[in-house]
Amino acid sequence: MEVNKQMGLKKIPTKASEEFRNFPMVPRVVYGKGSFNTLGGILMTKRKHSEAPMIYLVDDVFEGTELLDRIPSIFCDQIILISADEEPKTEQVDALVKMILEKYTELPSGIIGIGGGTLLDLAKAVAIMLTNKGSASEYQGWDLVNKKSIYHVGIPTISGTGAEVSRTTVLMGPEKKLGINSDYTTFDQVLLDPELTNGVPKEQWFYTGMDCYIHCIESLNGTFLNAFSKSYGEKSLDLCKEVFLEDIDESDSREKLMMASWHGGMSIAYSQVGVAHAMSYGLGYVLGVKHGIGNCLVFQYLEEFYPEGVAVFNKMLAKHKIVLPKGVCSNLSVSEMDTMISVAMGMEPLWENALGENWKSIITSDKLKAIYQKI
Ligand code: NAD
Ligand code: ZN
Repeated sequence: MEVNKQMGLKKIPTKASEEFRNFPMVPRVVYGKGSFNTLGGILMTKRKHSEAPMIYLVDDVFEGTELLDRIPSIFCDQIILISADEEPKTEQVDALVKMILEKYTELPSGIIGIGGGTLLDLAKAVAIMLTNKGSASEYQGWDLVNKKSIYHVGIPTISGTGAEVSRTTVLMGPEKKLGINSDYTTFDQVLLDPELTNGVPKEQWFYTGMDCYIHCIESLNGTFLNAFSKSYGEKSLDLCKEVFLEDIDESDSREKLMMASWHGGMSIAYSQVGVAHAMSYGLGYVLGVKHGIGNCLVFQYLEEFYPEGVAVFNKMLAKHKIVLPKGVCSNLSVSEMDTMISVAMGMEPLWENALGENWKSIITSDKLKAIYQKI
């Protein structure tokens, strides 16, 4: 900003609703079944020296599996197994960073996240916080990161979130659940190997896959839509429909969902998500409901906003015999309900995308309460 001021330049627009935004993209990506085997070669060129390790943050669901043996861990590299039972927290990021800084004399050569959105987001956040002072919670928001992060690589093992392409890492902080949105968040390298998603339990496959489907619906029906987002959103939506409505071969399905996730993530980069995501944040904050299932729980009751999207969603639920939990919000206290509503209402850019500038005339606390009570 200082430089901009000196040069008399206007502030660079960063808000979702501003017109021209200069986005970082993932500069390198490997794709294909079995491509995980190229990881060692890719990392070799990024190793600073033998004292600067590669740190692998790996979903602990892979404990004792052959995937761990295939990780190209050499020199003083470290593999850290992490549970994805809870979504990433700022204090967890701070603890990992502290541990790495204490253990090594040099900053790591790279951070590699292997897992779903939870592990990908942790890897992004740790890479940022190794070079930026203070706690991760100080950077939740938009464009608060000022130093370049450590080289970081994302390797998804479940498809749908689009976290592999996005410029955010969503964290639960002491005060809010919010992403660190910055140009330094985006991965430097992504490795897409559809074979890694083999073994994802069916319900989880559906919930995380629906995150992608809902990204498409919210982006394509949003007021921020432009040709850039539309092109990615439409492709992603077609792929989701093939995966969730047709009878295709499993290996084909894994490949298609992986690419749907990528395109869905690209689609929301230049637009925004909408009503389901805003309300799902409330569920996540108050009840710890995870992102994928939370989106589904909300989305089923959004026919008013997305009639066609909800009708197709119901077909997908029926085809895969998924029964969503009921009574999730039935035991909420008044103050918990109020918090949930205020967290959801706080997601202004999402509402603005969904309903336009005058969204406050459509969305009231009572309206949100009525939807939450159905869940
Ligand atoms: P996840 O990472 O939470 O994993 C879900 C479950 O699947 C876990 O139990 C995990 O162990 C298991 N799993 C993952 N891969 C597996 C495999 N190959 N075999 C068997 N089990 C496997 O799920 P997710 O839905 O991918 O991620 C949700 C997280 O992503 C949330 O924290 C959400 O906030 C975040 N998110 C981030 C962005 C972004 O742009 N940064 C976007 C959307 C969601
Ligand atoms: Zn999402």
